[in-house]
Amino acid sequence: MNMTSYASAMSLRAKLVTLNAAVVAALLLLAMLAWRSSSQQDEAQARQVRLAEALHLNKQADMVHDALRADVLASLLVGQVPQLAQDDVLRHVAEDARELEDALERLATFDELPAALVERVHRNRLAARSYGQAALDLTHRAVEQREVALASLPAFDQQFRHLVDELQQQGEQIGVALREAQALAAQEATLARQSLVWTCLVTIAVASAIVALITLAIRRRLGELCSVAQAIADGDLTRRASTGRHDELGALGAAVDRMASSLNAMIDDMRREARLAAFGQRLSDALDMADREHQVCAVASRAMTEVSAAHPMELLISDSSRTQMARAAEHPDVGAPGCGVHSPYDCVAVRRGSAVTFDSSTDLHACEHLRGRACETRSAVCVPVSFMGRSMGVLHAAAGPGLPFSADQVQQVTMLGSQLGMRIGTVRAFEKTQLQAATDPLTGLPNRRSTEQRLRELASSGKAYAVVMCDLDHFKLLNDRHGHATGDAALRVFADVLRSTLGQADLAGRWGGEEFTLLLAYANAAAAVEVVETLREQLARALRAGQVPAYTASFGIADASMSHLPEDLVHLADMALYQAKAAGRDRSCVAEPALLSALGTARRRPRPEADAAAPDAVAVEGW
Ligand code: GH3
Ligand code: MG
Ligand code: MG
Repeated sequence: MNMTSYASAMSLRAKLVTLNAAVVAALLLLAMLAWRSSSQQDEAQARQVRLAEALHLNKQADMVHDALRADVLASLLVGQVPQLAQDDVLRHVAEDARELEDALERLATFDELPAALVERVHRNRLAARSYGQAALDLTHRAVEQREVALASLPAFDQQFRHLVDELQQQGEQIGVALREAQALAAQEATLARQSLVWTCLVTIAVASAIVALITLAIRRRLGELCSVAQAIADGDLTRRASTGRHDELGALGAAVDRMASSLNAMIDDMRREARLAAFGQRLSDALDMADREHQVCAVASRAMTEVSAAHPMELLISDSSRTQMARAAEHPDVGAPGCGVHSPYDCVAVRRGSAVTFDSSTDLHACEHLRGRACETRSAVCVPVSFMGRSMGVLHAAAGPGLPFSADQVQQVTMLGSQLGMRIGTVRAFEKTQLQAATDPLTGLPNRRSTEQRLRELASSGKAYAVVMCDLDHFKLLNDRHGHATGDAALRVFADVLRSTLGQADLAGRWGGEEFTLLLAYANAAAAVEVVETLREQLARALRAGQVPAYTASFGIADASMSHLPEDLVHLADMALYQAKAAGRDRSCVAEPALLSALGTARRRPRPEADAAAPDAVAVEGW
């Protein structure tokens, strides 16, 4: 591991501590060097001072030595020179001799002197002691035996000169030592300055290198974090900054990673919501185009394939009675899961009124219809299909093991169930409204508007058909005698007879009041006569039950062979009805096409009160 990678591997705290430690160590090293240098200089200066003192002491000894010789010579003049007192001279000689010896003794104590010089000082100290003793002896002798003293003076002088030479050489040697000490001190001062400068340079270089290394490592790590943050800001949410370190930069990287993960999750949520909204919008558009319930179911099947290509699904819907549910749609590719629920209220999702998911059919709280299934179902989603709070069925999706529903699929199934409920409810309400608008509320038969619509359809089809106008006989009388409610009941009995007698392709409508219209598809007038006869028989049979008073009806018949205009046929049938009334009621008459020419002047004639048969109609005998 090189220094750069080692610095990179350190935590930020360790880097800053190392930085501080490097600076402190550098300062300590510099302080130590400065202290050492100053101590060495102090020592050198002290040595110089001591050697200067030694030189001064040597000079002092030399001077005392000269003074001692002068005292000895003065002792020779005692008695001849009146100012010289013998005691003073003796005292001076003794003092100078002691001072000379003291000076040399003190000089011998200087450790700074070279060893050879110290030896010489010791030697000279002994010589000085001997010289001092000789001076005292000579002085005493000069007082008592002057001649003897004068005779020993040459030996004394020789001793004096020897000591002079010694002290001079000794002084020169001390001077040499002093100069050497001065040179050494100057050299050490230079060395100290140089080493201080070098040490400063090296310390600054090392400290700068450490600082640069650590700064580089911090900047590199910050640069990496910055580039990751920039990439995330530019939309690359897969980039991560964390390196698993636990220092401050590691925590910053982990925070950046958490921010990227949060953004990723938010964007995923938004994408999922957008996908779900797009699915909902397309589903809503498709359902908008489905006007009939079977079209809604077809949209449901197609939507199931978009929710999943692999999960079986089915739409179970009850009829308007809400008692039984039947499968109205299933997945076109993988079919229906086959839920065994029959009644909406047997379904737990319908009872709860909200979507229910079952993670496993083996769970304790799994739906019993899911648990009892033979196939290998493991999980399921059940969404109630309801409209304005009224349940109509359930949308059921199942998943086998290893193929669980995703959260998106559960949301899509829930949305599909909700929109199907709204659309089926709307379609049913619309159809009900349409039916009410087209139906006579008293009898449940198509009203006049619906009848006219069907008449136009038959006329435009170009196929054969017959128009029969019916009118109950003397109905006003029935009302007057038995009341309006009984009249209503009688109208309902007549409508039931019409419904039960006519075929699927035929239509019986209430034209108004106690008048009815029959539209018989594929029939001509003769066939219509037979139908009417059957009707009259059925009416008579129904009335024999006695629920309402007995009454009869009259019928006028026309068919498409008489005119291609439907309104002409209505008028012809109406006129034939008039003829049936005129002929005595309780019968049918087939219209005469020749009467069409008279339609322009008299579209409708008043009903005759008499039972006389109309001359221009063919009456069919009744009971
Ligand atoms: P005719 O044999 O000539 O047809 O005699 P009519 O009494 O049946 O004919 P009219 O036109 O004189 O009277 C028709 C009556 O039908 C009058 C009216 O009270 C009755 N009516 C019409 N619509 C209804 C209804 O919805 N309910 C009841 N109860 N009576 C009705
Ligand atoms: Mg009438
Ligand atoms: Mg009538």
